[in-house]
Amino acid sequence: LMLLGASFGQSLTVEAVGPTAAATADRIVALLSGEAAGAPPAAPIRPAVEAAAPAATPAPVTLLEPGEAIDFEGVAASPGLATGVSVRVVAEELTVEEVGHGVESEAAALQYALQQTAVVIEASIAQSAERSAQQADILRAHLAFVRDPDLEQAAGALIREGKSAAFAWKTTIDRQVAALRKLGNPVLAERATDLEDIRRRVLLVLLGRAQHRLELAPGSILFADDLLPSQFADLDVAHLAGICLAGGGPTSHVAILAASKGIPAVVAAGAVASRVPDGQPVVLDAENGRVRINPPASEFTAMREAAEHRRSRAVAHRAAAHDECRTADGTRIEVVANLGGPADVAVAVENGAEGCGLLRSEFLFLDRTAAPSEDEQFAQYQAVATGLAGRPLIVRTLDAGADKDVPYVGLPEEENPALGLRGVRTSLWRPELLRAQVRAILRVEPIGQARILLPMVATLQDLRDVRAIVGEEEKALGRTTPIEVGIMIEVPSAALIAERLAAEADFFSVGTNDLTQYALAMDRVNPRLARQLDAFHPAVLKLIAVACEGAAVHGRWVGVCGSLASFPSAAPLLVGLGVRELSVTPGAIADVKAVVRTLDVTQCQTVAREALRLESGAAVRRLVAEHWPEA
Ligand code: PEP
Ligand code: MG
Repeated sequence: LMLLGASFGQSLTVEAVGPTAAATADRIVALLSGEAAGAPPAAPIRPAVEAAAPAATPAPVTLLEPGEAIDFEGVAASPGLATGVSVRVVAEELTVEEVGHGVESEAAALQYALQQTAVVIEASIAQSAERSAQQADILRAHLAFVRDPDLEQAAGALIREGKSAAFAWKTTIDRQVAALRKLGNPVLAERATDLEDIRRRVLLVLLGRAQHRLELAPGSILFADDLLPSQFADLDVAHLAGICLAGGGPTSHVAILAASKGIPAVVAAGAVASRVPDGQPVVLDAENGRVRINPPASEFTAMREAAEHRRSRAVAHRAAAHDECRTADGTRIEVVANLGGPADVAVAVENGAEGCGLLRSEFLFLDRTAAPSEDEQFAQYQAVATGLAGRPLIVRTLDAGADKDVPYVGLPEEENPALGLRGVRTSLWRPELLRAQVRAILRVEPIGQARILLPMVATLQDLRDVRAIVGEEEKALGRTTPIEVGIMIEVPSAALIAERLAAEADFFSVGTNDLTQYALAMDRVNPRLARQLDAFHPAVLKLIAVACEGAAVHGRWVGVCGSLASFPSAAPLLVGLGVRELSVTPGAIADVKAVVRTLDVTQCQTVAREALRLESGAAVRRLVAEHWPEA
């Protein structure tokens, strides 16, 4: 499916030839349509896309002249500022012999290399599980590739043709990589890098070579075509100041790893990034995706001081991250965390979270073939509540549909899924799923810690229908204290009728990711629109303002749990518009709290009003920078 570039809901044609054609085709259709869950795996399926030839040897690179000053741009993938000295990383060529030394010994060598690689990855998973859940997840994906029977069989076929194990493995992966890159889907192209990583790891074992660790001097800024996750893991991050890649993408695994270690990174900078020679002074602005090689000395110094200032500020922010958060003039602003499941709780609390403003319950429903039972859900919600040790927990009901695919819910094929059954509409369409989820949340103890949040509410009826179900389930469980039920403001209609909704909802939480998508009519998963999809846009801010005004009429509080809340520079605007809870990614808690503590609510209100009249998101950011240069 990866090679076909097929996504959920697309029609596929299955053709088979040969004596078992009909049975094989039936089995493939059953697998693809999810009917054969639990059935034994079918025979490996040859990709319909003709495997492309391995990439030709790249043309030699002409390096820039040492001392040559040059500026270029890329995409900021891990924020931060860095100054340092360039280190050029060239992909090492692993030369393999084509002809094997006997089918049996080559097959055994491949088996051994795959097993060895799996053992090493498993050990790394165990090591990283405590320190970085993201790194462990990426390694698990790599382990799945190493254990993929299709890859092993494809390489085995080449060995049986007389090829060496190394040649067979390299050719197999090269074909897959080329086929993935040919699809033109940027997400799948990024996964090709993971395959290249596995190609390298297994080849190193087959060739008897050790992973060599790149020795870095302090303040090194790496320049490379691309960097494999395992190469990143081998780097001495204490000496690594930044990364600039010609290729890659903001959602590539190496970008995620860099962000998790706080290393500024600019990706997709184009071929020029591969032409930067060693030893050049560099300014890397991974806030704005800008890179300067050999800048004027004054600029280098200014940027170094700015980066230094940020680092020491971040240390000070972390030191105060656990304190309650109030503005300078004493208004209480709760800074809580967005969580994806029980595994995130400890990190959030460590980072200073005052609770959870959004538990995305999808974690329990994705990647499985049937819905989790009420008891299973209860156990997970209770684990999160217990981990939060009495701090408030807001559980969002299942937000299935559109970009969050939960196949067994059986959503019909739709022309425009983002405008179809999703969020609370899906829950009301499958009320038995909603009832089980509501019961599981109602059972969380102590009573009062957990609240319910409904995604994608567009009408008053949505809220009333769910409220009726919640009331019935409370009665059935004999619960006498009603649970608080809030709604997400992520559909423009909900913002516009906020006053009516506030009469019947206990609180609002603004989902700026969807609110921006629907206000600007720009698909949130379309990379071509990524630069324009700006939550600072005055249109989005106006909807938040209307929602806050509506909530205030009935004395309800408003939070923001969309990504906008995680930008420290958004805090003055949101506080000025009337928001009193910010639910952010755990890594942003310290910085967001620090900015909130500098704010004067009256000044925030004045500037927020001015922001609503501006022409663009960029103009809003400039306005904030003028008033709060440190935000
Ligand atoms: C949002 O839309 O802003 C939000 C928080 O929900 P999600 O990103 O899960 O759709
Ligand atoms: Mg949303």
